[in-house]
Order: sequence, then C-alpha cells, then structure tokens
Amino acid sequence: MAKNSRSSLSLERFTFNESWDGKRDRAFKIVKKLMEMYPRRKILQGEPYFTLIRCIISQRTKDETTDHASKVLFERYPTIEDISSAKIEEIQRLLKENGVGLWKTKGRWIVETSRILLKKYEGRVPDNIEELMKLPGIGRKCANIVLAYGFGYQAIPVDTHVNRISKRLGLAPPRIAPEKVEEYLRELIPKNLWIYVNHAMVDHGKRICRPINPRCEECPLKELCSYARGLVKEEDIKGSTNRRRH
Ligand code: SF4
Repeated sequence: MAKNSRSSLSLERFTFNESWDGKRDRAFKIVKKLMEMYPRRKILQGEPYFTLIRCIISQRTKDETTDHASKVLFERYPTIEDISSAKIEEIQRLLKENGVGLWKTKGRWIVETSRILLKKYEGRVPDNIEELMKLPGIGRKCANIVLAYGFGYQAIPVDTHVNRISKRLGLAPPRIAPEKVEEYLRELIPKNLWIYVNHAMVDHGKRICRPINPRCEECPLKELCSYARGLVKEEDIKGSTNRRRH
C-alpha cells in the first residue's frame, strides 16, 4: 500500500493515480489560482476571544445571522468579564431573539467557555489546538478558525466548503471525515499558504463550486480538477460532504 512516509495518509484512497509529488504540484497551482481569484488584503478577522465566540455562534447558522447576533452580543457585553458574569439564560435569550439556532446550547457554551478562560487562562485564549479543543463548544474546525483568523497562524479550518471542494479537486480522498481532509491538505499544501485555503474555498464554494450543480464550465480550476475530469463523482463524496462539524 502506497503510504506517505511521514504519516498514515494513503495514496490508494484517492480515486485516481498520481504520485505525492504530482499531487503537491497540483495543490500548489490550485491554491495559487484560488488566491488570485479571491484576493484578500486582510486575513485576520479579529481578536482571538471575539473570533472564538463568533465561531460558537456560527455553527449551523447563516453568516448574516452570525454577524448580526455577534454584533448585538458584544455591544451589550463588550468584555469577557461581562459575558462571564452574565446569567446563561440572558445570553440564551439574546441569541434566540436574534435568530440563532441551538441558542440554548450555544448560550451555555459561550458563558462556560468565557468563565474557563478567565479562571484557567487569565482571560486569554490559548493559542494551541489541544487546549482550544478542551473548551465547551470548540471542535477542531473552530479551534483552527481561532488559530487562523484570531491569531494569524498557519492553520486550515475544514468546514463544509473545504471538505467538499478538496474532495472534488482530488486533494483528499472522497470518503473520509473532515478531520482527515485537514491532514491531507496539510501534507499537500506548503505551510505558508495554509491560512488562505479556508477563505478562498469558502468564497469559491459560494460562487462557483456550489454544493449542487457546480459551475465547472466557468471554473478556472477545471483543468486541475478531478471532478471536472470525471475522476471523482458526487456519489463518491456523498455522506461526508454534509456532515457539519464545529
Ligand atoms: S471544476 Fe467544478 S468541481 Fe472542480 S473546483 Fe471547479 S466548480 Fe468545483
């Protein structure tokens, strides 16, 4: 079985033949092209604590609702001390009133996480994935979002867009969990480009490589894409694409 020497990643789980070097070369071209297509002057979205709380709110929630609810929350409770000393029910009510789903769970996570940060980390957000993932409501995707967009570190958050597009492009085997997709991307993409992957694939997923009926004909990546070349099919990806993780 062809395995990468540095990990348990396997070439044979892909749907077509290509060496690791071939995949790395193609991954580099894809990310460069995505960066040209979706340029961003600013990668950092905010301060780590705000990024973390926003990520809890954003789970299974539309961007507009998340933006609005986060704004209202931080206007009313501007600091970590304010949120920590709030009653959980107050935060839950605020989320509910502003259209956030799973408001009960998220309200509890927001307050509990803030209290832990104050008690255990002197009010600072830890800057490593292991500690971040111990916080209530913070899974691997959110932890990576905090590292990338809160701290500006090289990290690859794998959300539903990154999961789907990576598999269509053939940068990850089709039938694997999002956590594993991250491992393949980290292996194939140079580390200094990791921070661009999430935002560029999210933009691409909303505009061109949409969940249903991707617009391959107009896609500048079609020459580099397994799906466009018929090497990977939607049914190969199904089952892992819609799995939402935080
Ligand atoms: S060619 Fe099609 S499947 Fe491939 S990235 Fe572009 S839109 Fe997505």
